[in-house]
Amino acid sequence: MHDETLALHAGWRRDSATTAVAVPIYQTTSFQFDSSEHAADLFALKSLGNIYTRIMNPTTDALEKRVAALEGGVAALALASGQSASAFSVQNLAHAGDNIVASTDLYGGTWNLFANTLKDQGIEVRFVDPADPEAFRRATDERTRAYYAETLPNPKLRVFPIAEVAAIGRPLGIPLIMDNTSCPLLVKPLQHGAAVVMHSLTKYFGGHGTSIGGIVVDGGNFDWAAHAARQPALNTPDPSYHGAVWTEAVKPLGPVAYILKMRVTLLRDLGAAISPFNAFLILQGIETVALRMKAHSENAMEVVKYLRHRPEVASVIHPSLTSPERAATYMKGGMGGLVGMELKGGVSAGRKFIDSLQLLYHVANIGDARSLAIHPASTTHSQLSQSEQAATGVSPGYVRLSIGIEHIDDILADIGQALDKTH
Ligand code: PLP
Repeated sequence: MHDETLALHAGWRRDSATTAVAVPIYQTTSFQFDSSEHAADLFALKSLGNIYTRIMNPTTDALEKRVAALEGGVAALALASGQSASAFSVQNLAHAGDNIVASTDLYGGTWNLFANTLKDQGIEVRFVDPADPEAFRRATDERTRAYYAETLPNPKLRVFPIAEVAAIGRPLGIPLIMDNTSCPLLVKPLQHGAAVVMHSLTKYFGGHGTSIGGIVVDGGNFDWAAHAARQPALNTPDPSYHGAVWTEAVKPLGPVAYILKMRVTLLRDLGAAISPFNAFLILQGIETVALRMKAHSENAMEVVKYLRHRPEVASVIHPSLTSPERAATYMKGGMGGLVGMELKGGVSAGRKFIDSLQLLYHVANIGDARSLAIHPASTTHSQLSQSEQAATGVSPGYVRLSIGIEHIDDILADIGQALDKTH
């Protein structure tokens, strides 16, 4: 089925207990076992079923199935936030002494996680410039367990070379993990060779800006067992599960070793569970995500056209301008809602622009149905030196816009009047 249909139907038909059509909020911590044998089988993974909401929940299950279907994966694990999804996606493969190779163009929170917290845990993250896909190969050694990148990282908004980097990793047994937060439905990284996709559900999938959540989707398209030396986490006995070897143990369930292990070890032990209520709210958002992504993309394109004719704007940053060929290859359904602009008047113009907005919200977020704006040099990137800011793509006059789905005339009117006040 098509995305518009999957967004409404995938993973759910009706409630088996009540026949309710809407996914109910299963606000319960635990689930009654049928018998002691049933309980023992569930704990031994001999049969699959609900045990405890830290590890699984029927509301969350519908969310997981829906996002897995939309990404074209085989299964998914929803988590408390996008941050926990990024962390788990790596920790599931890399242990102390191992490394991953990641793009330099990352969300700041991911950067901190990789450069500091994972480092403290003994996992080295080697950052490389994605402008040259071969840089991933050069940074690889025998302890490299994964490649990691964002589909459309901001503020640079350069489309990542998914197919090229995935193709470098596959023969080496190295999966590409893609953070697809900024482009749900518009880009399908699994179709281009990625093995794992993660999202902050907080952004476009939710769309309403009410709920923090994250998800990891297993593409089911990576042969972990064929690369046993490269991927010991999935191919050697796990002492926390009576010595189970995950690629062997899950064979009867299909190609889900990666995601099942994440659920029954990392989620069990670290507990970054999403609440069923947030899973429900994010499901409400997903019902309209196909319509919204089209509207975001169309409005953003109009904003790009408008900004290019404004004298206050030195340059406009958008995938159609930064990486038109890759955008045409990967973003057939639209280029998303993110737009950057560099104001000629530098920091003071950036601040004046933000302070003059009346419709657009001034927030450190992207992906709401509402239009949002921020001036990174004086906020999210203010702790960096000017040269560090420049390396991450933030110039003094850079303003990031997350264009929403309001009427385009109202969006342009607000941006226009705020630009007038930057003189
Ligand atoms: N990845 C990207 C691209 C993001 O923009 C964000 C949040 O801004 C995250 C991950 C982290 O997600 P969360 O805020 O849901 O933890």
